[in-house]
Amino acid sequence: MGDFTFNTEMLGFALIVGGSLILIGLERLFPYNKNQPFFREGFWNDLLWYTFIQSYFLQIVIFAGIIHWIDSSTDISRLKLISDWPIWLQVVFFTVTHDLYIYWAHRFQHKNKVLWRTHEAHHSPIHVDWIAGSRSHAGEILVNQTIEFAPIVLLGAPPEVVVWKGVVSAVWGMYIHANIDVRSGWLQYIINGPEMHRWHHADWPPEALDKNFGTKLAIWDWIFGTAYLPDGKAQEFGLAHSRFPLSEVEGKKHARLQQILGWEWLRQNAFAFRSFKFSREEQEKLAAERRLREQQYRRREAERKGGRKVGESGVHTTQKVGGNGAAQNGAHRAAGEPEEHLN
Ligand SMILES: [Zn+2]
Ligand SMILES: [Zn+2]
Repeated sequence: MGDFTFNTEMLGFALIVGGSLILIGLERLFPYNKNQPFFREGFWNDLLWYTFIQSYFLQIVIFAGIIHWIDSSTDISRLKLISDWPIWLQVVFFTVTHDLYIYWAHRFQHKNKVLWRTHEAHHSPIHVDWIAGSRSHAGEILVNQTIEFAPIVLLGAPPEVVVWKGVVSAVWGMYIHANIDVRSGWLQYIINGPEMHRWHHADWPPEALDKNFGTKLAIWDWIFGTAYLPDGKAQEFGLAHSRFPLSEVEGKKHARLQQILGWEWLRQNAFAFRSFKFSREEQEKLAAERRLREQQYRRREAERKGGRKVGESGVHTTQKVGGNGAAQNGAHRAAGEPEEHLN
């Protein structure tokens, strides 16, 4: 079984690499936002730290730590509750049930200000592409992937199911974020893709906020009334609410080196633990930043409507307010919280 699982794992890895190469190619051929750079803000951070290093260590914690501990103290996987189902059916079953869970968990993360702290990293990329979705706080991945994979192991599914589910999640996750101009017609009512998920990352207009929570299936958004699919394209991405650490946008020295060495990843994960209290002065500063950001959105929108830069990704200037280079964030969003606008 060991060899078989190893071979399945190698095949799974090859499929993920192959899938990402196809998506990269399609991004070049059919870009959603034209002129979006390949080596965009945070590229090295997302690729090295979130995709490889963070997920490698979290997998050890999740599988060899948490799931192993639950199983050895309950012995539940021995019951092999669903292991006589065909493999494909098990993969479909776990994909659909986990996707329904993640729809509600995701929606709740957008509502609850503590849970939002574990999700804002995912919304921070100002250019959304095939690898941007990997940027997720370690706490978010720890919880969601434990809930994703524990039932598979505990219900006694064979190890291949874990591998195939991993491949489905990885490739589908890259696909929904990819900078590809997909028009899937009626299929978009069922299957999720960049057409709707790029709007989920949009920071403008206000109607786009808190919509399209679906990951693999869009059907949940249509059923539960959170679908948003207007004509036109999302142009402004990122967080409008806080000073999320993005060394390139902040104009930091050696920004890319900071990403490669993991300093950026560390700052972003630590940012979730900042205080919820803000001084009056700070609140005013953040409100001013938000207003400025909104003006930038409106101006660029008017430029696009005027025929210039149509279809292009918004160019994010680092215009500074109050000496802080966080003007990349800061517009609108939920009332009452000067900083914690829910994205
Ligand atoms: Zn979200
Ligand atoms: Zn996303």
